[in-house]
Amino acid sequence: MAKLAPELLALLACPACEERPPLRQQANYLVCDRCQRAYPIREDIPVLLEEEAIPLSAIQGKEESSQQA
Ligand SMILES: [Zn+2]
Repeated sequence: MAKLAPELLALLACPACEERPPLRQQANYLVCDRCQRAYPIREDIPVLLEEEAIPLSAIQGKEESSQQA
C-alpha cells in the first residue's frame, strides 16, 4: 500500500466540508473525520470527489492492524 508524502497530505483537504479539514490516511483511503467520508487513493492519486467517497464505517474494521502508529 502506498503511503502519501506528508507534505502532500498536508495540502489536501476534504472537498465536502466548508472548513476544509485536514485528512488522514487509512489504508488506501483518505479519511475526513468531520463528515465521516473516506476518499479512495487510486494508483497513488487521491480521488477527492464527493461522489467517489464512501462512508468511513465501510472501511473501518478491515484495517485493524494498520491503525496503530
Ligand atoms: Zn469532510
